[in-house]
Amino acid sequence: MNSIDYLRISLIDRCNFRCQYCMPEGTELEYIRQQDVLSQEELLLLLRDVFVPCGFTRFRLTGGEPLLRPGVVDIVRAIANLPQTQDLSMTTNAFLLAGMAQELYEAGLRRINISLDSLESDTFDKIVGHQGRSRWQQVWKGIQAAHQVGFDPLKLNVVVIPGVNDHEILDLAALSIDRAWHIRFIEFMPIGNAGLFQDKGWVPSEAIRQSIRDRWGLAESSVRGNGPADVFRIPGAKGTLGFISQMSECFCDRCNRMRLSADGWLRPCLLNESEQLDLKTMLRAGIPIADIRSQVQHLVAIKPEINYKLRHSGTTGVAYARTMSQIGG
Ligand code: SAM
Ligand code: SF4
Repeated sequence: MNSIDYLRISLIDRCNFRCQYCMPEGTELEYIRQQDVLSQEELLLLLRDVFVPCGFTRFRLTGGEPLLRPGVVDIVRAIANLPQTQDLSMTTNAFLLAGMAQELYEAGLRRINISLDSLESDTFDKIVGHQGRSRWQQVWKGIQAAHQVGFDPLKLNVVVIPGVNDHEILDLAALSIDRAWHIRFIEFMPIGNAGLFQDKGWVPSEAIRQSIRDRWGLAESSVRGNGPADVFRIPGAKGTLGFISQMSECFCDRCNRMRLSADGWLRPCLLNESEQLDLKTMLRAGIPIADIRSQVQHLVAIKPEINYKLRHSGTTGVAYARTMSQIGG
């Protein structure tokens, strides 16, 4: 069992995209009220006095779209400067990245994951729910800027949706051949858009691997991350291919992460809504930090049990009310 040392921090639940699989157009989303979002001071207090003492040393900033969070560069700098921080990363849609990559890097961010579901601007715009001037070019510029500034590793996340972007699997995988980029194929989950999921279904990682194997061959990589991805490499390629297979291959037993939402709910597991802690309310009610810490410690202690239960309930056949943007995917 891995130690639980990795916290995904949602900085904001809002987004400048409306991806079909996450926050589809036409769905009414209840956004967190401004006054309910953890302030920068509250977040840093929780990190320093609760999460670090509970053993968390690796942090990922996510959302919604984290680059929309006012003061994001200052937040990056403050977390990077915590002496206990061993790893700090971000997941972003990169729409605003071209203008921010340099200052994020200078503030101490070194690893970045960018969502890129398509190399075709029409398909891309369809997926991210945008009409008008294509957004693909701006995202591609953001990716190039991150590459030039020196983010390493640079990972690109692809959610594969049958009949939408599955015809691009080989083109996306090919991005790992000449560049040391890591392309990660994520199985589409019924979180955020159960209707689309029922209509289109999902593509198992093994089917994706097979089409890549048929084209180039595929070797298991010696690089093994700490996360949920199984890592492979096209023979001779500079980068790798990762597969996150939460639908087809449960990885609950190696899960080492918890999630903190923008309004301060600590969630022990993506799929678990019953054991959450409302840290913001505790903090604002003046509950002593030592008591908050012991509640978090308890949640950390029972996480293996929660993982075990989920491992046996599985992910298929379940629909979830909240979107990834609300949970902090
Ligand atoms: N806005 C940022 C982005 O898109 O990279 C960060 C937040 S987003 C919620 C984090 C990740 O969740 C993205 O890589 C996205 O592709 C993934 N995601 C969202 N909804 C999903 C779903 N229904 N199934 C699988 N992955 C999903
Ligand atoms: Fe926004 Fe990311 Fe969700 Fe797309 S996946 S709608 S970019 S939060």
